[in-house]
Amino acid sequence: MLNHEWGHIAQMQFLGIPRFLLATAVPSIFQLGVSLKGENYYKKPWEASASILGGDWGRAYTKADVVVSALYLFAAKFANPLWSFFFALWGW
Ligand SMILES: [Zn+2]
Repeated sequence: MLNHEWGHIAQMQFLGIPRFLLATAVPSIFQLGVSLKGENYYKKPWEASASILGGDWGRAYTKADVVVSALYLFAAKFANPLWSFFFALWGW
């Protein structure tokens, strides 16, 4: 999904490279395990905000998905970046 990937670029510009890696790249690694549980990869907050920022609404996010993904993005920007790492481990 091209729009989705543009959304990741927007995330990177917003967060800066180090926080982007912690908030998006690292959780993407952990989602390998999560997806085995049958959860929707694109519902993950770091993936949902990429789709939304990229204008790719085709996956029909709920309002809760949008709010959680926005909170995640702002927390990754302004909180201790390790917070997003633990959030990912916790398995949203
Ligand atoms: Zn993605």
